[in-house]
Amino acid sequence: MKAVRFHEHGGPEVLKYEDVPEPKVSATEALVRVKACAMNHLDLWTRKGMPGVKVPLPHISGCDIAGEVAAVGDLAARVKVGDKIVVAPGLSCMQCAACLMGRDNQCRQYEIIGGYRMDGGFAEYVRIPEVNAIPLPASLSFEQAAAIPLVFLTAWNMLVNQARVSAGEEVLVMTTRDPCEPCRGVETSLRDPLMQTALRGVRLVRVDIDVFEEDLAEIKMPASRYPGFFLLSLDIRPADGIDGGEWDEDIAQNIAPVLGAFVRRQYTLRREPWTTLPGSGIRL
Ligand SMILES: [Zn+2]
Repeated sequence: MKAVRFHEHGGPEVLKYEDVPEPKVSATEALVRVKACAMNHLDLWTRKGMPGVKVPLPHISGCDIAGEVAAVGDLAARVKVGDKIVVAPGLSCMQCAACLMGRDNQCRQYEIIGGYRMDGGFAEYVRIPEVNAIPLPASLSFEQAAAIPLVFLTAWNMLVNQARVSAGEEVLVMTTRDPCEPCRGVETSLRDPLMQTALRGVRLVRVDIDVFEEDLAEIKMPASRYPGFFLLSLDIRPADGIDGGEWDEDIAQNIAPVLGAFVRRQYTLRREPWTTLPGSGIRL
């Protein structure tokens, strides 16, 4: 089969489109004919190489896979040849306390298909444990399905499990950047009763924007001028943002009255006007 592999770590030039032996499935695995595979930031990190993480080379990246089952192992009973599926990329021991509590991403043996040790979906075929196959609803195309797994889990965990957001609630995202004085000031002032009052009924989600530094550079958005608070639109894109640093000292006194109005979309005056983000905004 054809696949994109890298034999050494480095930039995009190390990627090779080449002939590779077709994967052989074990008894409880399924062979998937890849129809779509999204690109995740993990693919870039793996290709570049990460300190302390050993990736067996050559390696095929690609964690977010949608496709059709092409073959199944002798003991595989959950999927059959021809099934349209999206691949849940997480692999874990399924026996430890974290796994049994449904927090398999905290398993000591947690691994991602296409991530570090197991080959991924930048290929014609990929082998997966059959338990990782999720039936694809008819309403989703392969491309749409492949856009979901890893990023969806991150956003879902952040909003639903951590922030416990329910339908109809407002979500405010506070970005942090260390070392950044305004962000630290905002963080400290969150305990102030004025801030607590302003944020009543609002779910606060904190994001470390250092993680997104390369993405910000790519769209020419200087990380140091990134707003401290975002109001998210329904499609989880920033509808508006304000910078905690706009309000100098006494952050609680200065920002709390503004924050309440901002969340209720009544905020019209600011020292530094909000400019729409380039393109369609930052996706979290
Ligand atoms: Zn486990």
